[in-house]
Amino acid sequence: MNFEVIIGLEVHCELTTQSKMFSASPVTFGQAPNTKVNEVDLGMTGTMPVLNKTGVEYAVRVCHALNMEIDELLRFDRKNYYYSDLPKGFQITQDRFPIGRNGTMEIEVDGKKKTIEIERLHMEEDTAKQLHFDDHTLIDYNRSGIPLIEIVTKPNIRSGKEAAAYLEKLRSIFLYTKVSDAKMEEGSMRCDVNVSIRPFGSDKFGTRTEIKNLNSISNVQKAIEFEVSRQEKILLQGGKVLQETRRYDEGLKETVLMRSKGDAVDYKYYPEPNILPIRLDHQWVLDIKEALPEMPEERIKRYVEKYQLPKNDAKILVATKEISDYYDEAIRYTKEYKLVCNWLLGETMAYLNKSNTTIEAIKMIPKCLAEMVNCVVDETISSKQAKKVFDLMMETGKDPETIIEENHMKQISSVDEIRKIVCDVLDKNPQSIEDYKNGKDRAVGFLVGQIMKVTGGQANPGITNKVLIEELKSR
Ligand code: ADP
Ligand code: MG
Repeated sequence: MNFEVIIGLEVHCELTTQSKMFSASPVTFGQAPNTKVNEVDLGMTGTMPVLNKTGVEYAVRVCHALNMEIDELLRFDRKNYYYSDLPKGFQITQDRFPIGRNGTMEIEVDGKKKTIEIERLHMEEDTAKQLHFDDHTLIDYNRSGIPLIEIVTKPNIRSGKEAAAYLEKLRSIFLYTKVSDAKMEEGSMRCDVNVSIRPFGSDKFGTRTEIKNLNSISNVQKAIEFEVSRQEKILLQGGKVLQETRRYDEGLKETVLMRSKGDAVDYKYYPEPNILPIRLDHQWVLDIKEALPEMPEERIKRYVEKYQLPKNDAKILVATKEISDYYDEAIRYTKEYKLVCNWLLGETMAYLNKSNTTIEAIKMIPKCLAEMVNCVVDETISSKQAKKVFDLMMETGKDPETIIEENHMKQISSVDEIRKIVCDVLDKNPQSIEDYKNGKDRAVGFLVGQIMKVTGGQANPGITNKVLIEELKSR
């Protein structure tokens, strides 16, 4: 039997506002545990939440980027449950009236375009972070109250690859709209995956499982692919898929049971009484759209139209915002748009992979890459020398001018200067002139070698050859 795969994704993203969603304590990561909390985050009696306007602004940015309808009447609800990561005993969230609805995102998988439909985007606050050990658990309340947005798709994703493409693009939207650092490995972007399968042609959904706590996009794809084959096996053997929450075990490369959904809690949602409904100023919402930073698609368009980059190159640059930012900075110092792109996508990417590092961490600054490219174009150095300059820039962080100077790499490209050297060498080697006249081509190679020896390899090879032949013929 052939099955159709049905996937819906729930993504949480921590917003990088200065302060928390409902309190004035700072949003941080990796600080000493329990040093960035206040009474509100700890849910102490008598404290009151105050909504963070920047948090709302960031949510609106993402709503716009996902083409959503925005509900300008903000309303918050209480989601009640008792757990050690939630000192208040409830989480302030938006249940009935999410700020964003009916969004879309276009993705491309294997050359085919598809629109992913997005159900909702709502704002809420993060819980404390629990660190589990063999015989005890530690709680870090620094995370308590950090602004979150949750984005839920409709169940119209059909493969692990589509899910990965959606997540890659969503991540780049978070980065381009500057609302989050969206690091899955640090938990500032988190994804829960709902998966079910059904026989092709069926219009009824099968029972879904939910996979939680995935820490990378590639693990999302792997978890989905494993889960689909697990469910297929069960159905083919005449069994039933149970509604359960699972997690992905990286070592086993399998999804394993966390808990069955049968005993799902009732959160007893009700309107949050301490935050009255807030009517957003319509113009403010529009202004946020107007002021949205350049999005990936626009950037690709600019690269193709303004800098004549091939579309594929533009796409690869833009796929990683940091690489694309580096490119934008570099081309402030040169008009060699394509060459800078080649050096970035070629040598630089290779270096990043080889050294297992990121573009933000390397010593070569964008301006230096641009200047080096300029040196190749104006023939100060040959392209072979450029590779050496590149390596030294990466190693030392020095600028190309200094490196060229220190390593005596400057090419001699002045025709007059080269002609003088050529004549000197010819004067000292009458036998080679004789050999050349007698048709011995090896003589040319020998003479070029002599010229390079005299100049320490710095004579421009093209000009040297041309001048040498001219001089040989004229003698
Ligand atoms: P919950 O609150 O229990 O997680 P939601 O209705 O919010 O449930 O749905 C969560 C996600 O599950 C959504 O992304 C939705 O598209 C997806 N989903 C719903 N039904 C199915 C299904 N049968 N198979 C796969 N995904 C589904
Ligand atoms: Mg869910």
